[in-house]
Amino acid sequence: MRFTLEKYIFPKGLYCVVCGKYIDDTRQYCLCDHCIKRMNFGCSTFDCSPFFDYGFAAMGYGLYERRLIFNLKYDGKTYMAPILADIIYDAMYSLVASGKECQLLDADMIVPVPLHQRRLSERGFNQSEKIAKHLGRKLSIPTNSKVLHRVRDTHTQRALSAEERKQNLDGAFHVPKAMTEDIQGKRVILLDDIYTTGATAISCAEALRKAGAEKIYVLTLLFAGNRHHLMVE
Ligand SMILES: [Zn+2]
Repeated sequence: MRFTLEKYIFPKGLYCVVCGKYIDDTRQYCLCDHCIKRMNFGCSTFDCSPFFDYGFAAMGYGLYERRLIFNLKYDGKTYMAPILADIIYDAMYSLVASGKECQLLDADMIVPVPLHQRRLSERGFNQSEKIAKHLGRKLSIPTNSKVLHRVRDTHTQRALSAEERKQNLDGAFHVPKAMTEDIQGKRVILLDDIYTTGATAISCAEALRKAGAEKIYVLTLLFAGNRHHLMVE
């Protein structure tokens, strides 16, 4: 009921998705002039070998940018998912247009970072899966949200240090034996909403690698990580 009501209170295309100001439906990503100017649309690629082969984030992290994902993740505004998929898609092609390679384009599948069953029941949906489905449709790359499982219900990562995050996630993800065939020899995009210390991505990548993935590309909407990892901005 709440989600249906929200659709009427904040119909897509009439209000800026960040500040709620009235806009018309021609605005890019449903953002008003004020908010779109404050968004850091510069994509980044980052290196985290040997854990994964390529990292790509569509935007930098800031108060305005994080509102985009918080709307979906914490406020249940599922109409944000296609907007976020559009932002990622445009960022990928702006990298290509600037003459750089975007390795994500040769992937065989998109695997969203899974939520634990308890969190999934509370939230009602997995925000990364929602984005993955819309993005996969645009890129003609199938989404597979069944292969990777979150086997441990980990604490929320937001207040933890980098080292604590690693410990918190140790062995938290797993590919069931019956599903390794789907992964073997495949180039996989692992999709998460925010890249912070990389602990989640690394833990998922370990499970995918163990199951035989050939290449693992990490894709996130926002990059809030260590800037030393950045190769391009
Ligand atoms: Zn706005």
